[in-house]
Amino acid sequence: MIIDMHTHAWPQKVSASARQNLEGLFKVKLVGEPTLETLRAFMDKNGISISAVAAVATKPEQVPSINNWLTKVRSERIKVFCALHPDYPLWREELQRLAGKVDGIKVQPEFQDFYVDEERLDPVYAMIQELGFPLLFHCGEELSGTMKVRSSPERLRRVKERFGRLKIIAAHFGGFRLWKEVEEHLLGRDFYLDTSFFFRFLPKDEVRRLILAHAQDRLLFGTDFPLIDQKDDIRFLETLGLSQGLRERIFSLNARELLGI
Ligand SMILES: [Zn+2]
Repeated sequence: MIIDMHTHAWPQKVSASARQNLEGLFKVKLVGEPTLETLRAFMDKNGISISAVAAVATKPEQVPSINNWLTKVRSERIKVFCALHPDYPLWREELQRLAGKVDGIKVQPEFQDFYVDEERLDPVYAMIQELGFPLLFHCGEELSGTMKVRSSPERLRRVKERFGRLKIIAAHFGGFRLWKEVEEHLLGRDFYLDTSFFFRFLPKDEVRRLILAHAQDRLLFGTDFPLIDQKDDIRFLETLGLSQGLRERIFSLNARELLGI
């Protein structure tokens, strides 16, 4: 069984402009229209049972409409990580509204202009911790180049020190292109690391070494679809020489435990 814990999709009516924005910003070609239909077609093709779709609200006022759509499309195969923006004034009400109805929350510190360890975020983290939502962070540099790196491994570690029960998923194996800092601050600690945008940026031996240095029950398979075809990352993971037990943990077991499915 394969669960992809990091994907993106947009409603049909905005997918063309979302595609244009993403391809322009990241200088990549998406595998297709970034819709749920495309996602489902690629899941079928690649033998993926479940995908988690993560939202990105670049403007505070987008939060409720994005979340309305996500709660509508949530199903057995499609899990949803809803949008939250720290500048959205009704964030408390929004979290309350989502409680028990969604699978997690996603924040994007670069696009949402906040440093993850800023104190103004503390009430938000406290509430998410109490509600028990997994919280997915974009981590590290951007594909488009270095921004301010508002979500470095060191900053994320500080958040965890203040909120010990917060279930943090650190995307891009804890920090895109900051692998040394990931090793120093995150590996072996209570952080879920997803594998999106990690595999193809380091030599295989190094990827293997970093995976083996982390807690076996804190590794999640994720791809950042539709930026890539999931089959590339599935193959990569299968050829790392990991034990079957560990592969199962990464491909699905850890995600099932985290999502309670
Ligand atoms: Zn992503």
